[in-house]
Amino acid sequence: MANRVFNFNPGPATLPLPVLEKMAGEIFDYNGTGMSVLETSHRSPEFKEIHAETKELVKEIAGLSDDYHILFAGGGASLQFAIIPLNFLQDGKSADYVNTGTWSKKAIKEAKIVGNANVAATSEDKNFNYIPKNIKFDPNACYVHVTSNNTIFGTQLHTSPDTGSVPLLCDMSSDIFSRKLDFNKFGMIYAGAQKNLGPAGVTLIVLRKDIAETAKEGLNTMLSYGSFIEKDSMFNTPPTYGIYMVKLVLEWIKGQGGLDAVERVNDQKQKLLYHTIDASDGYFRGATATEDRSWMNATLRMRDEDLEKKFIAEAKAAGLVGLKGHRSVGGVRVSMYNAMPLAGIEKLVGFMGDFKKANP
Ligand code: PMP
Repeated sequence: MANRVFNFNPGPATLPLPVLEKMAGEIFDYNGTGMSVLETSHRSPEFKEIHAETKELVKEIAGLSDDYHILFAGGGASLQFAIIPLNFLQDGKSADYVNTGTWSKKAIKEAKIVGNANVAATSEDKNFNYIPKNIKFDPNACYVHVTSNNTIFGTQLHTSPDTGSVPLLCDMSSDIFSRKLDFNKFGMIYAGAQKNLGPAGVTLIVLRKDIAETAKEGLNTMLSYGSFIEKDSMFNTPPTYGIYMVKLVLEWIKGQGGLDAVERVNDQKQKLLYHTIDASDGYFRGATATEDRSWMNATLRMRDEDLEKKFIAEAKAAGLVGLKGHRSVGGVRVSMYNAMPLAGIEKLVGFMGDFKKANP
């Protein structure tokens, strides 16, 4: 067994060890086919089965009704920023966006290229360290777009906004399937896989059927949800191995008892970490409003940048890797996605205590 570190990278991120072990065991021969899934045709019966099972697992884990299409695409969450407005921002109407950080901003920028994207609320006044509340949405908007977890700033929506009959579209890239949620509340959910679902290169899209029906026609094939639906995500060669890895990750979630179990562990992790921060007499300071703290990406600051640098370097030497804050905010960021075990946070908080003693 290779020497594994605790990997706190924000994405691509740590994967469950049993998933990596299964991949390794099958890399030359998947299920007696004499070839890897990497080498298998997307039109083969083996891949068709993988694809169908992955879709079923998404539905089962999320508790989704039959009203949803489950799609897979390339291009990351960033491509969805562009094709959501291309498909759903109707001429003469507008869409409401909530601006909670870098990724929301990018979504807004793409929508503005297409049409009228209205910023219904923003937390930019405080460098995105909180989530705007009690937002008034336009009842005539084509849709409302939110980012459920702000990977860079470390804030998270702990309740999703009530948008009435306006469809709620959500970029769930960095907290999908990390907790129980009423997924049927959403008109659309999308997530780049590289944090909680698998590798970079595949994006999961959950799209309510009645909303899909309203998509604009006449778009280029690869930009149209209609063609993804019609061809069951196989107009072109889909990211086959990425989809397979999503399946393995979903099986890992299911195997431990689904989102109940995942949420329980994530809650223990976040409580332990934030408690350590709050009990440090200001040595470590949470960078966001307490009530909006993310369970997935905790952002924190220390006395000065030199001390932060030292902390990150010594943590790395101790096998706690990837703790540097995003270059646009600095500080320390602890990404603790589903695949980060509680033992990783236990080791980290132990290290934080030792570091504090050694560097008063
Ligand atoms: N949205 C969020 C919340 C993200 O964290 C990221 C990536 N870090 C993106 C979108 C962009 O994803 P991608 O690189 O897959 O386009």
